[in-house]
Amino acid sequence: MEIYQHIFEYTPDALFVIDQAGRVILANAQAETLFGYTRSELINHPVEMLIPARFAALHTGHRARYITEAHTRSMGGTAELFALHKDGSEFPVDIMLSPMMLHGDQLVLCVVRDITERKAAQDALTRQTSELRRLHAELELLANHDGLTGLYNWRAFYEYAEQMLKTAHRRQENATLLMIDLDHFKQINDRFGHAEGDRVLQAVASTLKAAARENDIVARHGGEEFVVAALGLSEAESLVAAERLRAAVAAIENMKTRITTSVGIATLTPQTQKHETRRILAELLDKADQALYAAKHNGRNQVCHFNRLTDLAQPATS
Ligand code: GH3
Ligand code: MG
Ligand code: MG
Repeated sequence: MEIYQHIFEYTPDALFVIDQAGRVILANAQAETLFGYTRSELINHPVEMLIPARFAALHTGHRARYITEAHTRSMGGTAELFALHKDGSEFPVDIMLSPMMLHGDQLVLCVVRDITERKAAQDALTRQTSELRRLHAELELLANHDGLTGLYNWRAFYEYAEQMLKTAHRRQENATLLMIDLDHFKQINDRFGHAEGDRVLQAVASTLKAAARENDIVARHGGEEFVVAALGLSEAESLVAAERLRAAVAAIENMKTRITTSVGIATLTPQTQKHETRRILAELLDKADQALYAAKHNGRNQVCHFNRLTDLAQPATS
């Protein structure tokens, strides 16, 4: 039997035997080490002395219930458990309970494991994971958005515009591209400096975003050029939408000079055959660009639809 005493004594977890009244009747060496009490300070004292005050009151009820249930289980379930050291400090623990009959007495064997290190490692992992998630979201934002204006960048525009073209094909609706270029923007930089130029780009971006419909895709195409993709507009409606955007930018105040834009429009009508989306998008952008060129050529600060280009206004093809 001596070997069993040794096993109890030298188990690397703290072991307690608790009687029905909740008093400690046996404790091993690790129990002394872990809680900082000598054995004589533990024996015959209520087990609640080892539990932080905020849990101790509840614990008395739990303990009484456990005696009637009397089956092996771990305490706490998903809750975190803490134990109280003699010096008043708290530490995280895992606790296993097992009922024990001895000479007709109902006792409970209680195994307490200090999980300070494991918990610290888990907490560190949780922190690292949330930091990684944050960085991932930030990277995604950077990869898809233009740093100056916060609009979608060209890469994201391609991706979402292709999706929009597929939706248009599926629903047999029109898809519209608006190419919006600031007029004489170089002069703004030259006259007021690059910083003012940047401020203008930001103001135009937020104005376009606010004036566009919620489901429109608004992106910075690069430099001082923006692009908007919209679903379901007729040619006439696209002219109205483009005019609304142009007027919204022309109405921007608090800048050192008035800002005007030229807008080129191209409409894709429903196709019976399915074509490669990337190629269709490239063609549509090219048409919008030609219409934009015509708007510039005709005097700027105006909108122009590709379908209404006259031969005169078309760019030279040499
Ligand atoms: P147009 O009416 O024909 O479009 O003339 P423009 O002056 O607007 O066009 P141009 O292509 O000659 O000049 C565009 C200028 O936009 C040149 C470039 O320095 C400036 N630009 C491009 N990107 C930025 C930017 O991020 N910030 C600032 N401040 N300027 C930029
Ligand atoms: Mg320009
Ligand atoms: Mg330009």
